[in-house]
Amino acid sequence: MEKIEESIAELRQTFKSGRTRSALWRKNQLRAMIKLITENEERAYQVLHEDLGKHPVEVYRDEVGVIKKSAKYSLSCVEKWMAPQKAHLPLIFFPARGEVMPEPLGVVLIFGAWNFPLSLTLDPLIGAISAGNTVIIKTSELSPSTSSFLAKTIPLYLDSKAVKVIEGGVDVSEQLLKQKWDKIFFTGSPRVGRIVMAAAAEHLTPVTLELGGKCPAIFDKLSKAYDVKTAVKRIVGGKWGPCSGQACIGIDYVLVEEKLAPLLIDLLKTTLKRFYGERPKESKNMCRVVNKHNFERLQKLLEDPLVAASIVYGGSQDEERLFIEPAILLDPPLDSQIMTEEIFGPLLPIITLNNIQESIEFINSRPKPLAIYAFTEDESLRRRILSETSSGSVTFNDSIIQFICDTLPFGGVGQSGYGKYHGKYSFDTFSHEKAVLRRGFFPELKPRYPPWNDFKLKF
Ligand code: NAD
Repeated sequence: MEKIEESIAELRQTFKSGRTRSALWRKNQLRAMIKLITENEERAYQVLHEDLGKHPVEVYRDEVGVIKKSAKYSLSCVEKWMAPQKAHLPLIFFPARGEVMPEPLGVVLIFGAWNFPLSLTLDPLIGAISAGNTVIIKTSELSPSTSSFLAKTIPLYLDSKAVKVIEGGVDVSEQLLKQKWDKIFFTGSPRVGRIVMAAAAEHLTPVTLELGGKCPAIFDKLSKAYDVKTAVKRIVGGKWGPCSGQACIGIDYVLVEEKLAPLLIDLLKTTLKRFYGERPKESKNMCRVVNKHNFERLQKLLEDPLVAASIVYGGSQDEERLFIEPAILLDPPLDSQIMTEEIFGPLLPIITLNNIQESIEFINSRPKPLAIYAFTEDESLRRRILSETSSGSVTFNDSIIQFICDTLPFGGVGQSGYGKYHGKYSFDTFSHEKAVLRRGFFPELKPRYPPWNDFKLKF
């Protein structure tokens, strides 16, 4: 507790000194971030392998490459983002000038996550330093090697009086949440999101909550064989590709017309074999489950006899290695846990519908997802998805890739989160937009002030 309080006091002092506000400081920190990730790339591959068994190419694609890209993009834009924006004023203000001036919020707390422990920790940090804040990062206790890597490396590269790393479990998170912050950025479950929001309310602290949920993929009929194959590859990539299904925007389940389901299942099986071989347990391209607790949680989802009976492919388990083989389930009961809770693992339920248009109602009868994916060439279905459903994002004919697009906001809605980040949206998330009005002293309009005895309002 004392260490936390001391750290916050030091960060407040640094913020008060004003040095984090300059463009030079912000750009130097972003350059330092690029240097950190470039000079420690090999180590990053090692720690991600220790924590999750990730392949180096997956680490580059989802973490190292993402951070380099985000830091470089912010570095190229930060001065433009910092500049006050001219506001158009109504004639009644004449003569005057109006502007919107972004200012840093102060001392902010960022909770990192374990599934992408580099990108989901450093990407928000890029936003916080671009906006000129001082920061405490709470790394995830579930990815201890990456956490310790960040705790050791960040002070060697970034301004250690402005950016600090605190490691620890739930007890440390609880202590951190008792403090007064100028902003809390949290990535994690909706359950803890509620705890964070309640703690923030105590000090009226603004929050961004990057939460989870069940992201559906709609698989509609496609006319070209190439498109069908590509769609299935992208479904496999969107389900098992990022961290073996342990991804907030990973595909949770697929909606498909009954008559198309056999083809989809066949192609999924073939693609899985092509990507991970006949024995995925031996594949170096597939991560393991993060820990025993999550392994048992996933095992429990499959314990329900009706769910177990719905497995049409895979699902073998190796408790010692915390590995679950990719599993495909056909129509598990809709009231079973696998269909009511976020799966966050390598199990893929396929839900059949009479008509693909029913997918709209299916999605709307559940909490708002973080992402909806739809593989379709039907423009009317696309329009219905956009106008009749609500989700953090919608991606047509692809999966996951929206995450790396700096010009699109990333965030949830309803139960999948609150607030957004990436690119300029990250800068805005960690800034206050101050309204500035500059006026002269002439002219004065008489009816502005009393006495109004001589004036009559006409209605
Ligand atoms: P979690 O909510 O259990 O833990 C996240 C953080 O909360 C950890 O730092 C932990 O120390 C802290 N915490 C846990 N219990 C707490 C308590 N009682 N009081 C205070 N702090 C507490 O999340 P998880 O299981 O590690 O991650 C999985 C969830 O995160 C999934 O729901 C997933 O969808 C979501 N997620 C979302 C995103 C996104 O960008 N939207 C990204 C990754 C993960």
